[in-house]
Amino acid sequence: MQYDTLIRNALIIDGSNSPGYRADVAIANGHIERIGDLQDACVEEEFDAAGHVLAPGFIDVHTHDDTVVIRQPQMLPKLSQGVTTVIVGNCGISASPVSLRGDPPDPMNLLGTAAAFVYPTFRDYRAAVEMANTTLNVAALVGHTALRSNHLDDLFRTASADEITAMRLQLRASLEAGALGLSTGLAYASAFSATTDEVMQLTEELTAFGAVYTTHLRSEFEPVLEAMDEAFQIGRHAKSPVIISHLKCAGAGNWGRSPQLLASLDEAAKTHPVGCDCYPYAASSSTLDLKQVTEAHRITITWSTPHPEMGGRDLVDIAAQWNLSLLDTARQLQPAGAVYYGMDEADVRRILAHPLSMVGSDGLPEDPFPHPRLWGAFPRVLGHFSRDVGLFPLHTAVHKMTGLSAARFGLKARGEIREGYWADLVLFDPATVRDVADFNDPQRAAQGIEGVWVNGVLSYRDGQANGRRAGRFLAREGDLREGFR
Ligand SMILES: [Zn+2]
Repeated sequence: MQYDTLIRNALIIDGSNSPGYRADVAIANGHIERIGDLQDACVEEEFDAAGHVLAPGFIDVHTHDDTVVIRQPQMLPKLSQGVTTVIVGNCGISASPVSLRGDPPDPMNLLGTAAAFVYPTFRDYRAAVEMANTTLNVAALVGHTALRSNHLDDLFRTASADEITAMRLQLRASLEAGALGLSTGLAYASAFSATTDEVMQLTEELTAFGAVYTTHLRSEFEPVLEAMDEAFQIGRHAKSPVIISHLKCAGAGNWGRSPQLLASLDEAAKTHPVGCDCYPYAASSSTLDLKQVTEAHRITITWSTPHPEMGGRDLVDIAAQWNLSLLDTARQLQPAGAVYYGMDEADVRRILAHPLSMVGSDGLPEDPFPHPRLWGAFPRVLGHFSRDVGLFPLHTAVHKMTGLSAARFGLKARGEIREGYWADLVLFDPATVRDVADFNDPQRAAQGIEGVWVNGVLSYRDGQANGRRAGRFLAREGDLREGFR
């Protein structure tokens, strides 16, 4: 047998949450053709991977890369971490189906300016991804706020019966065209006025497709348990899996409550398919939200349309310079983005270590001074949290970013190293892998990522993208409820 690529002597951590084993892996026609002792194999290209780990390519289940995958298809922030698949359309905001009437409403502006929104249907978006020759695989959710922006003249109210009907039609067409499911961002002002009933009616479209409901909860602050109950209620109504996005205890008054949140998640999981994603940092980032302005913890400004020179500075310092209150300063800066140092490290670790949690970066690619999770989330879990802190074994870290994620989102023949699976692979040095991006210098590639293959094509090596782009659009396949058994 002639193979395209042979990776010899790697420690294979296969994504299934089992400890690693040593073997050779042969790739042909984009797939993992054979695993074993392949000394006599005939190959075009060979890698000696002794001392390195070969893992399935990482799946970033929580991204806002909707338009950047098309506009900047190199995707270096993700590729350099070993990510081979991104799931876009999270937190209620998606690039499609969208027909804007002006500027994108907050927080859809996280995906780009009005010029980036050129996909009136999901089918248009899918075609654009396929045309763009993306470096990474792309799978997509449809955002509730995106649907609202199409049909409501005023986002600060709940939708009427007719508007719900119109949103349902767009959602159904999107699911038929391969969308994974529906996401909401109920904490944001642009969706907060939507009642539970509005969301439940929309999610009725998910049932027949076995599609997923993901949610940025209505609150991540003190009412977080009530917000989780709302999410589970919606999921049970729709008979759809529920993924809670970036689960956290936000705000100093909420610290230490992660055991309660995880108990609630475990309880729901007994009778319903549920899970969560989480990013490995004790600081969050989004648009600058007046409700989150507080003196209780540090807030830095990442961007500001009227005051771009304030990017990277602390809100407190800007307030002192302007001689204004924090709230008035925030008002002057809007529209703007911020990093909120509003979590407790112990909560972050408990949630990250929980068996139902997957890793998602929530990185913001448009941000001129982004939260370092954009460039560092996955290596940070491998290096800092698994190797240095010892939060869980390396094979569990890998599982949380590969096998578990592929199962939950129904990404068939991906997320594990198995014969016949797609050759989405990352080779890394377990002794040196680490995130380099930090809050002071957030746009730096990780160390220790030695090679990344997307659908069998080597796309990153020795700290460099090589320009080869073999990503695919991944349409929903089958019933996502099956990935929770
Ligand atoms: Zn979110």
